Amino acid sequence: TSAFSNLSFIPLDPHYTLKKIFAADDHEKKVILGSGIYRDDNSQPWVLPSIKKAEGYVDNGQNPGRYEYLPITGYAPFHHAARDLLFGPLNVSTEHFVSLQTLAGTGANSLGARFLKESLNPSAVWLSDPTWVNHHNIWSLVGVEIKTYPYWNAVNRGLDFDNLIHTLKTRATKGDVIVLHACAHNPTGVDPSKEQWKTIADVCEQKGLFPFFDCAYLGFASGDLDEDAWAVRHFLSRGTLELAVAQSFSKNMGLYGERVGAFHLSTFSAEAATKAQGHLARLQRGQISTPPSRGARIATTILATPSLYQEWLLDLQEMTSRIQGMRRLLRDNLVSLGTPGNWDHICSQIGMFSYTGLSPEQVDIIRTDHHVYVLRTGRISIAGLTTANVAHVAKAMDAAVW
Ligand code: PMP
Repeated sequence: TSAFSNLSFIPLDPHYTLKKIFAADDHEKKVILGSGIYRDDNSQPWVLPSIKKAEGYVDNGQNPGRYEYLPITGYAPFHHAARDLLFGPLNVSTEHFVSLQTLAGTGANSLGARFLKESLNPSAVWLSDPTWVNHHNIWSLVGVEIKTYPYWNAVNRGLDFDNLIHTLKTRATKGDVIVLHACAHNPTGVDPSKEQWKTIADVCEQKGLFPFFDCAYLGFASGDLDEDAWAVRHFLSRGTLELAVAQSFSKNMGLYGERVGAFHLSTFSAEAATKAQGHLARLQRGQISTPPSRGARIATTILATPSLYQEWLLDLQEMTSRIQGMRRLLRDNLVSLGTPGNWDHICSQIGMFSYTGLSPEQVDIIRTDHHVYVLRTGRISIAGLTTANVAHVAKAMDAAVW
């Protein structure tokens, strides 16, 4: 018998299960609205034109060092440019900062979790309910107790703000870590307002909580990078909080498979930052030695070349405006079908996703009867809608809701 036969059985991730059964379906009108991956109006992957140009510069370069190992902390021009993009003009010394290149947003979340467990040893980490499922996985792997704060109010299909604040005020304890989605919350598509962010920052200050922002969709919430970075910058500008950010370029540069991301830590002193950098580098070395170079060079070429940067902003706008257009079309189709209920939340929610409010049973109906594949939480990836399939999706939802 195998030494592994006693392992417990772990079912496939729901995303992969969904993709597998979708692939096996040969219906001509099948549609998948599962993963947060951008698709163009022909349901095809989209290589951003600005990225194509940057790739050209990187791949055609005659630099014989391009396949050398990067430093343990990654490609410095990359993580500096990533930091500046996120934080904007800094009101604190860069010496108080530590930034490392990571294996995309997941790697940054995971490195951050390991580092914060080791350095702060928090009694708990607070995750939003609901959140990106991998947050649960990452934090349970490092052995920190997971607690959740209310986030989604199913009745008004919006933010459960009062309960969120009440829970943190009454149950969180000093030194706990709180994971916050910087913008375009996954899966709900609902973000706090600026006033609400200020109150969350107040509570972090009052309770001594450590904010760890997950920033996977910069530019996808409002279409404007500075606007989407507002919450992170606000927390930093108060000067009263040390904080961390996990930053991903998977979505906003369409570099999913290249694994491009960064982990940033803002501390109160240069000494603390230097010490933290040593520990982060040790953790990184034990896990991956050094991060991959090509994607980071492509991203840096975009961020450091003013003309390409402007082209990238246009590409970002193309993605966000297509998504917004699809939100409107889906809502309008549901309204013209007379589907019971109010569907305005599809338009007011932001980012790639909509938490539709469809129940697991309704999700099953649209899958079996109409070949529309959605996670059982009712979250749909708006980026999977096209002018050709949106009417079919609306009809499927209509049939399931009646
Ligand atoms: N955080 C959130 C909230 C996400 O939705 C994702 C991607 N689904 C990630 C982090 C990580 O993405 P990646 O590792 O591909 O950069």
